[in-house]
Amino acid sequence: MNLSTKYAVPPHLALLYDFVNSLDERSYVENGGRLQGGDEFATTPNFARWLDSHGFQSDNFETDRQRAIMLRDAMRMFLRVPPEQRRGSEVAYALQEELNEIPLIIQINDGQFDLIPWRDNLLLGTAVAQLHRLGIMGELGRLKMCSSEECNWIFFDRSKPGTRTWCSADGCGNRHKTRAYRARKKTGGT
Ligand SMILES: [Zn+2]
Repeated sequence: MNLSTKYAVPPHLALLYDFVNSLDERSYVENGGRLQGGDEFATTPNFARWLDSHGFQSDNFETDRQRAIMLRDAMRMFLRVPPEQRRGSEVAYALQEELNEIPLIIQINDGQFDLIPWRDNLLLGTAVAQLHRLGIMGELGRLKMCSSEECNWIFFDRSKPGTRTWCSADGCGNRHKTRAYRARKKTGGT
C-alpha cells in the first residue's frame, strides 16, 4: 500500500507525499520495537518497484533514480525549514537549482489550466506540479518535517491553525513531552 493511501493524504498531494517520504528516517520505538526506516530509492531494483507501484515507467532507471534522489533531498531540506523561514533561504535556492531541470507546461483541460510534466521524467514533473499546486492553494506551509530528530517524517498538517510541529500528537508529540518532563525532573527544575 502506498503511504499516502495508508495515511489518507488528500489526492492532490498524494504522489508528492510518497515521494518525499520514500526516505524514511524514523528510528523511534513503537510497539516495543525500534523502527528501522529505509530508503526506497537505495537501489535500482527498489526504485523500479517504487515507480511501478506508483504507475510510472522509466527508460533508464539508474539515471532517473539519481535525479529523483537529488530532487527529493532538496525538497526534504526545504520542507525541514519552518514555513515562515523558507522564503529567501539557502534551501529555497538549492531547491530552485533542482526545479530548473524539470520542465512543465500548462495544459487546458475543460476550461481548467493544469500544470503538467513536459515529456521526460513524469515522476519528477508530477511531484513538482503537486508542490506548485500546494503553493497556489495556500497549503505549502502545511507540508513540513516532523520536529522530532528521530522521526523526520514529512507530514501534511490538517489542523485548523496549521501550526503543528509533530507528525502525530500521540506519537512524536507525546514522546517529546514525556522526555522533556523526565529531563526537568532529573535536573530538579519545574
Ligand atoms: Zn514524527
